[in-house]
Amino acid sequence: MKNMNIDFTKMNGLIPAIVQDALSGKVLMQGFMNAEALAKTQETGMVTFFSRSKDRLWTKGETSGNFMELVSVAADCDGDSILIKANPRGPVCHTGADTCWDEENTSKTGFIDQLRAIIKDRKNNPSDKSYTASLFAKGINKIAQKVGEEAVEIVIEAKDDNKELFLGEAADLFFHYLVLLEAKGYELDEVMEVLMQRHKK
Ligand code: AMP
Ligand code: ZN
Ligand code: ZN
Ligand code: ZN
Repeated sequence: MKNMNIDFTKMNGLIPAIVQDALSGKVLMQGFMNAEALAKTQETGMVTFFSRSKDRLWTKGETSGNFMELVSVAADCDGDSILIKANPRGPVCHTGADTCWDEENTSKTGFIDQLRAIIKDRKNNPSDKSYTASLFAKGINKIAQKVGEEAVEIVIEAKDDNKELFLGEAADLFFHYLVLLEAKGYELDEVMEVLMQRHKK
């Protein structure tokens, strides 16, 4: 952990701590931490602040149950601000909102990672009922062929103006594409790296 760089002698020992959702990247809330709050956060794995209004250590979720599970801690460039990444167990704000800025904490692109995890699980723990598992059972050539079929279907829908059908085929193509990557044993990140490398040129 990089918290060695946090200088609690600055700002009267109370350092702003920004909490970001580890998955969606949304800023969830901001509080203050003293050295004890940070130590307790790391010991318990639950984000704990020093509450100025309560004048004591405050573990977020201690009464509501909406704890924020610690993922990582980082100090900023000059050691006077903390960035916490966490997984919230429920709405973060006491108003019931997902974030203290009344935002929804749903990243639809973040769902791609959830979906990839499910696909991986279907490959590793196949069940009879799972369509995805049945794809893996048929093998890479069949999956690749399925991607080709879905590609043809989106081409056909692209010619029309039916949004629902087009989006349906777009989803089919994307899903089978993810299954093919998993069948090949490659990560979507590796594809993104290729795209990012090209972008740099
Ligand atoms: P909790 O920590 O979620 O059990 O909430 C306990 C109390 O902390 C609430 O009644 C609020 O007074 C306060 N509180 C909870 N969440 C927040 C928040 N995101 N920002 C500021 N105060 C909060
Ligand atoms: Zn700073
Ligand atoms: Zn709030
Ligand atoms: Zn289709």
